[in-house]
Amino acid sequence: MKHKSIAIDGPAGSGKSLMAKMLSEQKGYTYLDTGAMYRTVALKAIRSNIDTLDGKKLEELIKNIDIKLEIKNNRQHMYLDNECVDSLIRTNEVSKGASDVSKFPPVRLFLVDMQRHVAKNHNVVMEGRDIGTYVLPDADFKFFLTANNEKRAQRRLLQMQKDGKDTTYEEVLADIVYRDKQDSGRDFAPLKKADDAIEIDTSEMGIDEVFNTLLRYLNGK
Ligand code: C5P
Repeated sequence: MKHKSIAIDGPAGSGKSLMAKMLSEQKGYTYLDTGAMYRTVALKAIRSNIDTLDGKKLEELIKNIDIKLEIKNNRQHMYLDNECVDSLIRTNEVSKGASDVSKFPPVRLFLVDMQRHVAKNHNVVMEGRDIGTYVLPDADFKFFLTANNEKRAQRRLLQMQKDGKDTTYEEVLADIVYRDKQDSGRDFAPLKKADDAIEIDTSEMGIDEVFNTLLRYLNGK
């Protein structure tokens, strides 16, 4: 039996993580945050003193990397060398590194394989940058969320402060501008709206409003 899939793509701070979580709970589907996987590779590169833009070294690194993805009670946990790195991957340094390493096809192909494996075995709400265009081109529903830079930086800052991270609005804004440019400009599976995705600008919308809009589409209303 083919499993159901909902793809949610968009840039950082567009609201896709929260929506993916809420939708997965509402539908009883597995939630998969693919950004966390790129972040884990970036953390490994940083720990190994590898330049996150050195494609050759990353290609070697990915051959022997020990990454595990655990999904427990619909919560995703990332393990690197058997250590849970859920909190360690949520820094500005790792964000930038994730955007860097995600340019390289060997890194992407390795992670896309894991992502498709999850979708083959579970109903999923999968969020990322290339889910609707590349990872799951046949997804049952595709959403592309956007918001203006200021709103996205504010949301990201609030989230990071809530998680106890020491950062500023300026740092967060610089991070998302850097990543948007790199993520949209890369050759392989860039950040891009799929032709058949529903685009929603969440800049002026509250959480419930975005969620209800998504539900209306899912329910065909
Ligand atoms: O979603 P998140 O901000 O955690 O993603 C971190 C980075 O990982 C993104 O800036 C992007 O470069 C990369 N990424 C990607 N493809 C995905 C998910 C994330 O290239 N499907």
